[in-house]
Amino acid sequence: AGADFECDMLVLGGGPGGYSAAFRAADLGMKVVLVERYPTLGGVCLNVGCIPSKALLHVAAVMDEVKHFADLGVSFGAPTVDLDKLRAHKAKVVGKLTGGLAAMAKMRKVTVVRGYGSFLDPHHVQVEETAGPGQDKTGKKQVVRFRQAIIAAGSQAVRLPFLPDDERVVDSTGALELPQVPKRMLIVGGGIIGLEMGTVYSTLGARLDVVEMLDGLMQGADRDLVKVWQKMNAARFDHIMLKTKTVGAEATKDGILVRFEGEGAPKEPQLYDLVLQAVGRAPNGKKIGADQAGVAVTERGFIPVDVQMRTNVPHIFAIGDIVGQPMLAHKAVHEAHVAAEAAAGEKVAFDARVIPSVAYTDPEVAWVGLTEDQAKAEGRKVKKGLFPWSASGRAIANGRDEGFTKLLFDEETHRIVGGGIVGTHAGDMIGEIALAIEMGADEIDIGKTIHPHPTLGESIGMAAEVAHGTCTDVP
Ligand code: FAD
Repeated sequence: AGADFECDMLVLGGGPGGYSAAFRAADLGMKVVLVERYPTLGGVCLNVGCIPSKALLHVAAVMDEVKHFADLGVSFGAPTVDLDKLRAHKAKVVGKLTGGLAAMAKMRKVTVVRGYGSFLDPHHVQVEETAGPGQDKTGKKQVVRFRQAIIAAGSQAVRLPFLPDDERVVDSTGALELPQVPKRMLIVGGGIIGLEMGTVYSTLGARLDVVEMLDGLMQGADRDLVKVWQKMNAARFDHIMLKTKTVGAEATKDGILVRFEGEGAPKEPQLYDLVLQAVGRAPNGKKIGADQAGVAVTERGFIPVDVQMRTNVPHIFAIGDIVGQPMLAHKAVHEAHVAAEAAAGEKVAFDARVIPSVAYTDPEVAWVGLTEDQAKAEGRKVKKGLFPWSASGRAIANGRDEGFTKLLFDEETHRIVGGGIVGTHAGDMIGEIALAIEMGADEIDIGKTIHPHPTLGESIGMAAEVAHGTCTDVP
C-alpha cells in the first residue's frame, strides 16, 4: 500500500512518554514521525495535568502563606482574585513549555503529524487529520508506514455513569479551566489529583466536601504523613466522607444534588455548585486499533509489555499511562528512553527499584519505596528514623514546622528501603531518598553525608542518624 510518510519509528501520542521517546529515537539516528491529535505536544501532563495544576497550586500556596504573616508582624490586605488573569498566567506557563517542545521537535527533525492515529496493520498507522483546538476531524486521512513503533497514547479521566451531564460536573481538565469559584464543591475521589484541585478551589474561596470509597485519603502514602496533611487542611472541609460512595446525583437549578451511601454519608442529599470527579484514569489501549497490529490489550485497556517495553509484537513498544500504574509523568519519560534505546538495539531494560510519588498540596506529601504498612504486610523487619521538623531550624524560621521526615531501613542490612516527607517542599527533597534507595545506601551513608545547614533537606540526614541512634538534634 502507498504511504504518505515513511519512517523508522512511529510514536503514537505526544505526551511526556511520546515526546521523550521521539526525541531519544531521533537522537539515536532514527527518522521519526510523532502523531498527536491535539494542536500542542505535551499530552495530559503539560496541557491539562502536572503543569497547569502546579501553576495554580503555587498561587494558592502563596495566598495561604501570607494569611499567617500577621503573626510575624507583616499584614497584607485580603486578596482580590482576577480569574481571567489567573487563567492567562496558567495558559502562559503551559504555552511556554509546549512551545519549547515544538521547537525541540523541529530541531531534531521529528515530523509531527496532527491527527487521530489508528493501526491498520503491524506496519501502518492511519492518521485522521484533526484541526482547531480540539479533535475535530477534517476528513483528510494519511497513512504512515513504519519499521518500529512506540505506543504512548496515555489515559483519560474515568467518568462516573450516574453523574449528570452538566457543566457543573467536571473532571480534572474541566476543573483546571477554572470556570468559576463555587461556594460548595464536592470532590469525588480522595486521591492526589482531587486533593490538589480541591486545595486550589478552597484557597480561592470554596468550601469542600470529599467522598472516598476507601478508609483514608491519599491512598498509597504512609498514614502518618497523611495525618499531618489532614490536620493542617481540616479547615478546608465541611465533610470528609470515608468508606462512602456517591450513589446518585441530579442536576437542579440550585446545584447538583448528590446522594451518598456508607459510613461517612450525611443523612440528607447535599447540594453543590461544582462536582469534581477524580476517581482515577483509564488507559486508551482500546481506542487505537491495536488488534489490527496484533498488539494485545487487557480487558481494562492496558497494553502488557516486557522489561524493554516491548508488546507481544516485538517491533511495537508501549510506554506511560497506557502500560499501567503508577500513572506518572516521570515514569513515562524513563520508560520512553528505554523503549527508544531498545528499538535502536541497545541492551537496556526498565529496572527502577522505586518511583517517587508527590501530592503538591500544602503541606506537600512525598513518598518513595516501602511504607511502614507495606513493610508490615510483607513481614519485613524495618527500623525507622523519624526527624520532626519542630527540631529543624529552617522549618521553624519558615514558620512551617508541622512536617517530618521518616526513613525506613532494613533491620538486617541497614539499607534504606523507603521514606516519606510531609512538609513544605517535600516533593523537591524526595529525589534524594529515591537516589539513596537506588544506590543501596545505609543509615551511615545518609547520616554521614554532610547536608547544608540550615535546610529542610538536612532532615533526611538527621532521620538517618535517628535510625542509627546517633542524632543529637532531637530531644
Ligand atoms: P499522556 O500525557 O496522556 O499523553 C498521551 C497523548 O496521546 C495525548 O496528548 C493524547 O492526545 C495523545 N493520543 C491519545 N490517543 C491518540 C491517538 N489515537 N492519536 C493521536 N494522539 C493520541 N504526573 C506527575 O508525574 N506529576 C504530577 O504532578 C501530575 N499531575 C497531574 C495532574 C492532573 C490533573 C492529571 C490529570 C494528571 C497528572 N499527572 C501527574 C499524571 C501525568 O499527567 C501522566 O502520568 C502523564 O501525562 C502520562 O504521560 P503519557 O505520555 O503516558 O500520556
